[in-house]
This record gives sequence, C-alpha cells and structure tokens, in this order.
Amino acid sequence: MAFTTRFAPSPTGQLHLGHAYSALLAHDMARAAQGRFLLRIEDTDTARCTPAFEAQIYDDLAWLGLTWETPVLRQSDNTAAYDAALDRLGDMGLLYPCRCTRADIRRAASAPQEGAPMHGPDGVIYPGTCRNRRWEDRSDTDAVRLNMARATDRLTTLPHYTETGIHPALRLTRAHLTDEVGDIVLARRDTKTAAYHLSVVVDDAAQGITHVIRGEDLATATPIHVLLQPLLGLPTPIYNHHRLIRDEHGKRLAKRDDARAIALYRAEGATPQDIRGMVGLTTA
Ligand code: GLU
Repeated sequence: MAFTTRFAPSPTGQLHLGHAYSALLAHDMARAAQGRFLLRIEDTDTARCTPAFEAQIYDDLAWLGLTWETPVLRQSDNTAAYDAALDRLGDMGLLYPCRCTRADIRRAASAPQEGAPMHGPDGVIYPGTCRNRRWEDRSDTDAVRLNMARATDRLTTLPHYTETGIHPALRLTRAHLTDEVGDIVLARRDTKTAAYHLSVVVDDAAQGITHVIRGEDLATATPIHVLLQPLLGLPTPIYNHHRLIRDEHGKRLAKRDDARAIALYRAEGATPQDIRGMVGLTTA
C-alpha cells in the first residue's frame, strides 16, 4: 500500500508554528516516499470549532505550499461511522455509561483511601464509580467509557506498534493500560459526540493511513489507539511522533499563542520559506 499520511487539525483556533511544522513534515515525508498526503478536519467539538477557523486552515496550508487530496474528511460529516464503532464495542460488552461530572471524578479520585489522584493521557484516571452500570441502560445525558480491564482481556495478546519518530514505542501491558490509562471516555456527554480516541482510530482506517505523523504530546494516547484498532478489526499504522515547537521559555505552543499564528507572520510579510526556516525545515 502506498505511504499515506494525514494532517488532522481541529478548527478551534488559528494554526501556529507547531502546526506548520507537523503539516510540512508530514507533507515532506509523503513526497519523499512518493505517497499521499490527506487532510482531515477534526471538528467533533462543535462548541469550539468555527467555519472561520476551518477556512483559515485551508488558506494557511495552501499558502505554505501544501496540496492535499479532496474531498477533505470532516469529522462532523462522519458521525454515523463513530456510532457504528461504539455499538460494536458496546455489543462486545466493553462499554458502560457514565454520569460523573469532572468534579465527581476529582472528588472520588482524591478520597483519602485512594492516595494522590493519578493522571493518565486524559487527566485524572477514572476511579470507576459507574463501572458496574450496564451499556443497555445508557441515557442521553451519559458519557460512554471503555472498560479497560475487559478490553485488554478480550485480546489474547496485546498489540505492538512501530514507531519511527523521536519517541520510543510504549510497550502495551495490561497493568499500564488499566492503572495508568484507565477507563477513558469514547463518547462525550456534553456534546454527545465521539471522543477523539474513537474518531481518530475510525478515520485513520477509513482514510487508509499507513503512517501517522504527529507531535510527541500525543505519544501517550497512541497505546489507546493501538488497543482500539484490533478490537474494531482495523489495521494499525506506523507511528512517527515528532518534536514539538517551543517558545523561548521551552513551553510548547498552544492554540492561544496567537503571537505565533501563521496568519500573523503572513501579515508581517514572512514567506513560506521563512516559516520552514523558523521550524527547522530548511530545504523545500
Ligand atoms: N486533532 C488533533 C490536534 O489538533 C491531532 C490528532 C492526531 O494527529 O491524531 O491536536
């Protein structure tokens, strides 16, 4: 299968230098491998995504010199696929509905007998309050969680993945997944939409992605994706987690760092080559 990669921004803010690096790197790698570069708009968080930010993404990427195949996959158009994946995991007995608020979780996780709350890729590790609720009893006001112990037991061997970037592949063990990742949310209760971990896995397979190229801030989420893939009968791509672009204090750039927005550099007269230079990609 031809090398196929993607850039998957969420239109919740302006693209900054960190996004430019990720998109340019993936595009360069696809070109070097004579492969395909795809774009995916991760807009399931309808409260925070805007059409203006989405339009700006296309504009900034085209200005940087990137080309991508169309039509672009927009996650808000693909919710039926996430619902089907959720039903499949639910029918396997791996999901349960959860009515806990963030405050409930913090309280339960910091109860005296629990010791200091443990943090996983998605924040405080869920203490399991709703774990005995039945999937069939879910209501519209519930979130949906993966029962991690059951999910790991379902596979005879835990999967491996190949990592070609700067982050070592994390070894999947049952103890790591149950104790340090925990029962993650696969559908949110606030927006009733698929959570990132589910939609990313469904869409990487739907788009035929062979190589996921993304920042090392997502490396701790990769074991979750690699676990979900065989449970859903989907292939596991190769992962490449790259360095992050940081500010002068060593802090990684966030969406609110408008000072480093590509649009701002453009307005100040920078060229796409200047941006490549700023993120340490010197050759076009
Ligand atoms: N949408 C995610 C983000 O903007 C990236 C998802 C991914 O590369 O897997 O951080």
